Amino acid sequence: MRLFTTVAGLRCYLHLRRSEQERAGQKLADANPVTVGLVPTMGALHRGHLSLIHRARQDNHLVVVSIFINPLQFGANEDFQTYPRTLEQDQQQCEQAGVDVVFAPTASELYGTVLSVNNALTQVLPPAAAIASLCGRFRPGHFEGVATVVTKLLNLVQPDRAYFGQKDAQQLAIVQRVVADLNVPVEIVSCPIVREMSGLALSSRNQYLTEEERSQATVLYRSLQQAEQLFRAGNLKSSDLLTAVQAELTTVPTVKPEYVELVDPVTLAPLEWVEESGLLAIAAHIGSTRLIDNVVLRNRQPILAIDGPAGVGKSTVVRQVAQTLGLLYLDTGAMYRAVTWLVMQSGVALDDQPAIAELVSQCQLELENQVKSLPSTPKVWVNGQDVTQAIRSAEVTAHVSTIAAQPAVSDR
Ligand code: AMP
Repeated sequence: MRLFTTVAGLRCYLHLRRSEQERAGQKLADANPVTVGLVPTMGALHRGHLSLIHRARQDNHLVVVSIFINPLQFGANEDFQTYPRTLEQDQQQCEQAGVDVVFAPTASELYGTVLSVNNALTQVLPPAAAIASLCGRFRPGHFEGVATVVTKLLNLVQPDRAYFGQKDAQQLAIVQRVVADLNVPVEIVSCPIVREMSGLALSSRNQYLTEEERSQATVLYRSLQQAEQLFRAGNLKSSDLLTAVQAELTTVPTVKPEYVELVDPVTLAPLEWVEESGLLAIAAHIGSTRLIDNVVLRNRQPILAIDGPAGVGKSTVVRQVAQTLGLLYLDTGAMYRAVTWLVMQSGVALDDQPAIAELVSQCQLELENQVKSLPSTPKVWVNGQDVTQAIRSAEVTAHVSTIAAQPAVSDR
C-alpha cells in the first residue's frame, strides 16, 4: 500500500498504474483498463468505513481511500479542532483491507493558501432546495464544503466508482446530484448503514460519547424503528410517522433532537405522504456530541430479476410469475431488440458505438404489457412507431447480442 500526501505523488502513481495496464492491453487482447474505486473519508476509520472499502475492493482493480478532515465543511462552532485524527491506525486498517493508496493531504496541499483568504476559492454550490432541509438547515456552508471537496477528489483521482454511506443520506443525495449536474464521469455507489448490536449507527463521533451517553444514543435508531413499524402496518402519513419518532425520543430526555424530518430521498424536499419512498432522518445532541441517523421507507413492489441462457423459457416463467404476483413485467429482451431495430433502421454501423450512444440517448421507448393474453409478448413502440412485430424479425435476432453488449446500450 502507498501513502501519498501530495497531489503530485497521487497523480503520478495513478498515471503510471493506468499506463502500465494500457501497455499490457496492447500485448494482451483481453487486458481491461484499470478500474479505480475511491472511498472519501475523514479518517478515524471504523467498520462503517471498512464496509465501503470492502465493496470498492470487490468492484475495482485499484482502491484509493482519501483521509482528509475538510475545514470547508465545518462551521465556526463545530468540532474541526477536536475531530479524531488517527492516521497511523487508519493506515493499518487500510493495509489490512487491501487498499492500494491512502491519500492524506494537508488542507494547504488541497486548497493552497486561499483558505485563509476569505471567499478566494472556487466552490461547488448544490441546489438551494437540496440544502434547505435536514442538516443543511442547521449547518450553513456545510454541503458547499462537502460538494467542493468531493468534486476536487473526483477530479484528482478520476475514479470509475466512488463509495458513500447511506449513513450521511443528505450528503449522498447531494453528491449524486452534483455528479449528474456537472456531468462528472463516475458511478456513485451507495452503501448501507453499519450499526452496533445496540442499533447505534457507527460514527467517528461516537468516540466523544461516555458509556452512559452511548447507551442513551440508541434511542435514535429505536425511534426510527417505531416509525418503520407504523409504516409497515400501512400508515404512510408523514405527520403520524414523525410523531412516532418524537414520542420515542422523549423517553430519553438527555437526547435533544435538532430535527426529525421525512423527505424525498432524491430531491430532499419535505413529504406529506410516502408515495414511493421517504427518507426519515434525525439529528440530535447528546451532551456536546451531535449524531445523525436515518432509515429509508420504501412503499413499492418488490423487483424480481430472472436471468439465464437463451431459449430456456425465461420469458414464459417471468410472465406467469408477474401475473400471479400482480407485478409489472419488464421485458428487457424486447428493449434490446427495439434498440437493435432502431440502429438497423437508421443505417448506423453496428460497431459505431458513439453514434449508437447518441441514438439510444434520444430514443423514446415504450412497452405495454398484454398480460391478459398470456403468454404473449409486450407491445413495443420506438419513437411512436409500433415495432412489436418488426423486432421479432430474423435480422434483429441475428444482431441483438452485438448491440446489447455495448455499454452505451446496457448502461442506459
Ligand atoms: P466520514 O469519515 O464520516 O466523512 O465518512 C466517510 C464515509 O463513510 C461517508 O460516505 C459515510 O457516509 C460513510 N460512513 C460513515 N459511517 C458509516 C456507517 N455507520 N455505515 C456506513 N457508512 C458509513
